[in-house]
Amino acid sequence: MLDVFESWDLTAPPLPRRSLLLPLEPIGIETPLVESLTSYISRLAEVHAVTVSDLVGYVLAACAPRDAPIVSERARRYRMGSGFLPGTHAINGVAEDARRWIAAAETATDRTGLRLLTLSPLKQIFCKQSLFRTVQAWCPVCFADWQRNGRPIYLPLLWHLRMVSICTKHRRPLDETCPHCDQHFGPLYARAKPGYCSRCRGWLGQSASTRQKPAEETARDDQIWMATCVGDVLCPFGKPA
Ligand SMILES: [Zn+2]
Ligand SMILES: [Zn+2]
Repeated sequence: MLDVFESWDLTAPPLPRRSLLLPLEPIGIETPLVESLTSYISRLAEVHAVTVSDLVGYVLAACAPRDAPIVSERARRYRMGSGFLPGTHAINGVAEDARRWIAAAETATDRTGLRLLTLSPLKQIFCKQSLFRTVQAWCPVCFADWQRNGRPIYLPLLWHLRMVSICTKHRRPLDETCPHCDQHFGPLYARAKPGYCSRCRGWLGQSASTRQKPAEETARDDQIWMATCVGDVLCPFGKPA
């Protein structure tokens, strides 16, 4: 006598879509301290334990739209490597550059809404590339606070803007010079890592012992007003699409 067994369902369960890179969560979306796209890309490199130049040159470049490459073939050939050109600040901006980098990063991470890490949604308000500093600025006290509280270290979009010269939280001027090597560096260097100097790799967070700031380092009211206004403009971007 034949037993009738329950039949197995052999159809494969639907697999979630896989992204090429870990779909890292951007920091501070819909807040004045929203992360910048260059900071996001640096953190992506960090979590995948590769350099920014390798991530950009070999992964993101392959994900950029064919008609809008982020690293040209010529640059790649000429540089005999990833073709990555460090220090570009236009990535966070409103121009064509930003669109290419957003498309590449969204394809690689299978995320949407990364335009919110740039000024793209605010094209009407911010229309000049000169709005950006060419060198990176940061608040060492913010870095130290985040590290102490176990929060991710990142660079807010706000700190990339020339018109913002202070940290609204700590009411102190942003730093642009590394305390270890006394040098400047751009927002996306080959070995960029948020919170660290791209040149000497030194930690940029302020230690507790150097927290007392001299009087001339206190922010002026007009600087605080400007930084707060710009932060408010970055804030109501709306939900990621
Ligand atoms: Zn701060
Ligand atoms: Zn340094």
